[in-house]
Amino acid sequence: MSKKYVDEYEKAYTPRLVMEEASRCLLCLDAPCSSACPAGTDPAKFIRSLRFKNVKGAAETVRINNALGAICARVCPTERYCQAGCSRSGIDKPIDIGGIQRYITDYEDALKMDTLEVKEANGKKVAVVGSGPAGLTSAAELAKLGYKVTIYEASNKAGGYLRFGIPEYRLPTEIVEKEIDRIVRLGVDIVLNTRVGEDITMDQLRKENDAVILAIGASKGKMLPMFLNNKKAVLAVDWLKKVKSKKGNIKVKENVLVIGGGDVAMDVVTSLKLLGCPHVTDVVYEQFSEFKASKKELMGAQEQGVTIIDGYVPVAARGGQVKFKHRVINAELKIKADLVILAVGQYVDANGVDVEIDRNEVKAEGVQVANTNVFFAGDIAHGEKTVVWAVRSAKEVAYRVNKFLGGK
Ligand SMILES: Cc1cc2nc3c(=O)[nH]c(=O)nc-3n(C[C@H](O)[C@H](O)[C@H](O)COP(=O)(O)OP(=O)(O)OC[C@H]3O[C@@H](n4cnc5c(N)ncnc54)[C@H](O)[C@@H]3O)c2cc1C
Ligand code: SF4
Repeated sequence: MSKKYVDEYEKAYTPRLVMEEASRCLLCLDAPCSSACPAGTDPAKFIRSLRFKNVKGAAETVRINNALGAICARVCPTERYCQAGCSRSGIDKPIDIGGIQRYITDYEDALKMDTLEVKEANGKKVAVVGSGPAGLTSAAELAKLGYKVTIYEASNKAGGYLRFGIPEYRLPTEIVEKEIDRIVRLGVDIVLNTRVGEDITMDQLRKENDAVILAIGASKGKMLPMFLNNKKAVLAVDWLKKVKSKKGNIKVKENVLVIGGGDVAMDVVTSLKLLGCPHVTDVVYEQFSEFKASKKELMGAQEQGVTIIDGYVPVAARGGQVKFKHRVINAELKIKADLVILAVGQYVDANGVDVEIDRNEVKAEGVQVANTNVFFAGDIAHGEKTVVWAVRSAKEVAYRVNKFLGGK
């Protein structure tokens, strides 16, 4: 097992250091950090509680708002949301809100706190399709309101990309499992190995439940036609799934070529390095100034010694030999690798779930399929494709479902 791959990359705060970080907070009125969180978390409130040494109160603030608080603390691109608006940036640097939230949720776990409460059962049933962050959050929100919620998941384990996508060094499986257990304790049932559209039909779900929520994500990796049937080429999401399922217990090749420049590509190249791969080359369509990956992820990959070549498009492939052309200048590049990993995007597989997909999103107004009891959330809904946006859209869907079924 590669210890580097399984050890959390970002170090946790000690009690002294977290208080030091919290004491930099200006305790703003109308705090910009709080209005910038897509999921409606209130960092100003939980940092204030922490400053007054009320860590329990801080944990309640995080958890009541976000059933996946410990996960968001680790994977949320805070530099784009709460930290982007932080008033402290004008003085030196923004408050490390993610790091503080992680300290608070670790404390909550150590104390075995169970903050979320369930209202009396209202006799209504909701089915959720998919157990990624959108499915889990909508299930938690509706269970709290007294609905009987059952999640149907195609895979043999729950969590979607939380469990099988985001690498162990950024999001440990143990954290994902603890968050899922919390939601199960609210009375949510999770039926695994059940693909809706194959093992059970949408018609059946719609008849047996008062509402159905689709949260199937964009769970398939895109293939470039020139790599079809190429035994040396694999899809990034499949490779990441294999590595995470085996806790990094895999033998990596000597020389790996990765194609793609988004956050998924950065996860692949950094994982390869942490697993001991000596030569990792990443060839990216975009030029450096247009890079899609977050600065943090890109810097992490560069720190690990990944060779990144920008501005090239693959034009031909034979086994591990790939030819590229530059997008702007007249230049060619040939790379020979033992393995090629394609990180060129994901798509929605809506087979059998009876919704029309357009540009990877459900084609419908709002969050409900017109004239049905079917709702949708997460990556298949309009909005950004991040965990915190999945939480946001799931909370909105839970609110709509509750209204649709006559709840207050
Ligand atoms: C490698 C990787 C790294 C990422 N890193 C980050 C990050 O650091 N921060 C961040 O905010 N976001 C990150 N993301 C994006 C984030 O993971 C997604 O936006 C989020 O998981 C979407 O949630 P979801 O619930 O809509 O879908 P998913 O997490 O994709 O879950 C969908 C679930 O539905 C199941 N399913 C699909 N079809 C069916 C069916 N017919 N029947 C039953 N079940 C079905 C799937 O098996 C899956 O479990 C990353 C994504 C990837 C791939
Ligand atoms: S914006 Fe920054 S300084 Fe102001 S309350 Fe939020 S974290 Fe503290």
